[in-house]
Amino acid sequence: DRVINQIAAGEVIERPAAVVKELVENSLDAGATRVEVEFRNGGKSYIRIEDNGSGMSPDDALIALERHATSKLREADDLLKITSLGFRGEALPSIASVSRFTLKTRRPDWEHGTEIFINGGKFIHQRECGMPAGTRIEVAHLFNSVPARRKFLKTDNTEAAHIVHLMRLLAVARPRTAFTLIEDGRTVFQSPECPTMTDRVAEIWGRQVAGELVELPVATGENGLRLTGLIGKPGVGRTTRKEMIALVNGRAVDSRTLNYALIEGYHTFIPKGRYPLAFLFLEIDPAAVDVNIHPAKREIRFRDEGAVRRFVLTHVQERLRELTGFSLNTKAV
Ligand code: ADP
Ligand code: MG
Repeated sequence: DRVINQIAAGEVIERPAAVVKELVENSLDAGATRVEVEFRNGGKSYIRIEDNGSGMSPDDALIALERHATSKLREADDLLKITSLGFRGEALPSIASVSRFTLKTRRPDWEHGTEIFINGGKFIHQRECGMPAGTRIEVAHLFNSVPARRKFLKTDNTEAAHIVHLMRLLAVARPRTAFTLIEDGRTVFQSPECPTMTDRVAEIWGRQVAGELVELPVATGENGLRLTGLIGKPGVGRTTRKEMIALVNGRAVDSRTLNYALIEGYHTFIPKGRYPLAFLFLEIDPAAVDVNIHPAKREIRFRDEGAVRRFVLTHVQERLRELTGFSLNTKAV
């Protein structure tokens, strides 16, 4: 059933921010040092991702879109099968099946670029084009052909907020890559290559937020645990959890364990009802992470949640104690 299949595609892609995530991650995988993202109407009407990465040859570009997909798309937009194969290796064909999709790409060692146009999963053309080295993907009218899915999208403002938040996370995870984000013709942020995470946070969240943060010294532990990051100074709190940011092995994640470790670590250091401000960068042996979770989602589980919680809690508290000196202990006595 075609409708059911298209709804399945919608579940995999969810919303415009998911398109941006998949495409920007592809750009980063392709070694891009510059990524530009533009969107309109919360990404519903238009998304453009442009990078200076490796690019693709005309044949590879076609394969990237056909892999597991084009035969199915030709037959019945059979996205249920794609879902059962998992999302990896499926981003491009999935996105192309529910949008007007234009890919332009050129490898630096090729004289010409190639352009492929796909409309709602239907291959329209491939032709030679002028193109700087790298890849440019345009996704227009997302879910237009899938009304059942489109109606689940939130307002333009809400969808835009998801994209902006996602882009901030990607940018902070990769300070060495230059990022530009443009919303409805207006630059949301433009950040050149930054020498450190602190610089990137200042670029994206502003000097004021950067001024509220202190660095965590590098901490290491078992299972390849390594923690760095920036945390709010004692007394600095937020009314929402939006600025409790955690990246595990370079990916933004939602982890109750990390959130609770932070909240617990701060409980005597910020007023009740406030949430810490934090950018945690955790490295861990991938084998110590439970990967049995939907790949398009951000939730993460650690094999040993307790060990990770204690590790983060200990180091956050140590740093906060250090910053408040003995005054806290004295008060307690
Ligand atoms: P996956 O990333 O899981 O391999 P995708 O559908 O996202 O699957 O991408 C398919 C392939 O297309 C990638 O493996 C890569 O070879 C190629 N590709 C996609 N985006 C880019 C890009 N921006 N630059 C270079 N190659 C790309
Ligand atoms: Mg991908």
